[in-house]
Amino acid sequence: MLYDYEAIEKFRISGKILRESREELKPFIQENIPIIEICEKAESLIRKKGGKPAFPCNVSINEITAHYTSPPKDKTKIPERSLVKIDMGVHVDGYVTDTAFSVCFNPEHMIMVNAAQDGLQAAINTIHADMSTSKIGTIIEKTIRNRGFRPISNLTGHSVGRYLIHAGTSIPNVQQFSFKKVKEGQVYAIEPFATLPNAEGRVENYPQKTIYRLVKNKKMKSLYAQKLLKYIDENFKTLPFAERWLKNVIPSNQHNQAFNLLLKSKAISGYPILVEASGKTVSQAEHTVIVKKDGCEVLT
Ligand code: MN
Ligand code: MN
Repeated sequence: MLYDYEAIEKFRISGKILRESREELKPFIQENIPIIEICEKAESLIRKKGGKPAFPCNVSINEITAHYTSPPKDKTKIPERSLVKIDMGVHVDGYVTDTAFSVCFNPEHMIMVNAAQDGLQAAINTIHADMSTSKIGTIIEKTIRNRGFRPISNLTGHSVGRYLIHAGTSIPNVQQFSFKKVKEGQVYAIEPFATLPNAEGRVENYPQKTIYRLVKNKKMKSLYAQKLLKYIDENFKTLPFAERWLKNVIPSNQHNQAFNLLLKSKAISGYPILVEASGKTVSQAEHTVIVKKDGCEVLT
């Protein structure tokens, strides 16, 4: 076994906290609600239940596919008639679970939300120990295409681990040539994205960054930058974080300069926001599962 009983139990607790937080967050997602309120609500639900956010709550609107969280003092609101993807993660003692869902305020795109969900469900229904990742990708792609949509080809699911969101194995959302297999006892996040049939079906980097991670804990000349970096290392380790989470670590009038020094010295780096290459709306669904001999256990 890859994980002992105690580790599996921590994954299960992590998944339970995430599932309950997701369900309590759902009714809160409405048109014209400030995105920062959704992010903070999601993260506070997780903390209240005894977990820690494994990464900032992502709120990605329409063609924005992933990696948007509110920057400090974000004024953006959920646009009317938008398709909103909420992606959240929990860790308990480092054991990560990851889930996502779509909320749609445009009736035209409702079936695209279902297509991503059906792709996820088809993968969950068939995954088992020693199944090839390429076969999982084929099943997801077929399901989404059968419903008249297109999967995003360059985003994948992933194995998760302790303090690791991407633990080395990718689960493709399209047919792909690979001999890699999923293993019994290993934990994976499966996350199909669906877009319109006439879309490019891939994402591109957008220059803006709102989510960061520690690259290297190095000696900084600035005392404030050093203090900020120490806080990041102690609180988030290798896991992604939001600039919002650094409030009150150092005097607020020193924050921008210190944060920019960390970026410039490459002690931390940002994840670019990912946007569908042809600007088409995207839906997403995601669960974390433990693979069993003949199936899987959904943790989230
Ligand atoms: Mn996710
Ligand atoms: Mn994921």
